[in-house]
Amino acid sequence: MKRILTGLKPTGDLTLGNYIGAIKQMTKMQDEYESYIFVADLHALTVPQNPIELKKRIRAFIAMYIACGIDPKKNTIYIQSDIEYIPSISWILECSTYYGEASRMIQFKEKSKENANFSVGLLTYPVLMAADILYADTDLVPVGIDQKQHVELARDIAIRFNKKYGEIFKVPEPLITKSGTKIKDLKDPTKKMSKSDENPAGVISLFDDIKIIRKKIMSATTDSEMNIIYDEEKKPGISNLINIVVSLTGKSINEVETMFKGKNYGEFKSYVADLVVEVIGNIQEKYNKLVNSKELDSILDEGAKKASALAYKKYQTMREKVGVVR
Ligand code: ATP
Ligand code: MG
Repeated sequence: MKRILTGLKPTGDLTLGNYIGAIKQMTKMQDEYESYIFVADLHALTVPQNPIELKKRIRAFIAMYIACGIDPKKNTIYIQSDIEYIPSISWILECSTYYGEASRMIQFKEKSKENANFSVGLLTYPVLMAADILYADTDLVPVGIDQKQHVELARDIAIRFNKKYGEIFKVPEPLITKSGTKIKDLKDPTKKMSKSDENPAGVISLFDDIKIIRKKIMSATTDSEMNIIYDEEKKPGISNLINIVVSLTGKSINEVETMFKGKNYGEFKSYVADLVVEVIGNIQEKYNKLVNSKELDSILDEGAKKASALAYKKYQTMREKVGVVR
């Protein structure tokens, strides 16, 4: 069975976009693959965090994964920072990564522009991501287009390392999910919905009160026309809502258009709101039962044990090959 791995960084509350673009995809693949899913908490530190909130959010992410349908029996679920050898692996990999290639990463270029005092971590982040992927002999990494370049870097590092020191790493492939629809911000449907967005009006959090979710959808930005037709360019708001329906129901774009022929935006939005509220309402019910349970801790203990054993083994092999041993 091939192994897939995915991690989300706790830089904000999980959104409907994360659910549709990442978590739901993992639930679909968990029967076909051996799956690893984790909270990338060390990655969150590349930008400033409030420690108390971060701690709460890490646990919340894990509970949310499971509430969304990630089955702990089929997945290895863990917190990145619980796997102590990952940063050590990352360090050795950093020494096999060129400054030039790290600084060419698009995400680094963009994020380093946002704040003049960006950290070195922002630059080395993709190498830590390579460590996340490579320690576990991952075959496939399901990612959105935004992360594809980072997986390619992980491949390059693995190939280079293997050439120099022998076959140590499996060379991973990015898996760009077909239904990798980017969910857009409800207020500004030209940009993607992001959990680290400072303005929550256009972002649906999986933790939002149901009433607020309904309100956000009802006041989503649309256009001045009257027809419910998919046109990303001219009608980004309506197209985004259609995408949400398509992703949550499995209906085709065409079916949704036909369903709402002759209906107005209010009726359509109401339908979308009912749908999203039902999906997130069910998730929240499960989440509330789980988040403070002992069960969650045993899941995490088990995940950490399994992942740590792999990371330890890989790190020892690397030490031997590189020559940093007693
Ligand atoms: P940040 O704002 O901190 O970058 P994010 O919401 O973009 O947060 P990430 O942790 O960067 O989330 O990405 C986690 C996963 O969720 C990735 O697989 C990414 O492709 C997916 N994802 C993120 N935002 C969306 C979105 N709006 N629509 C679909 N998938 C998304
Ligand atoms: Mg992102």
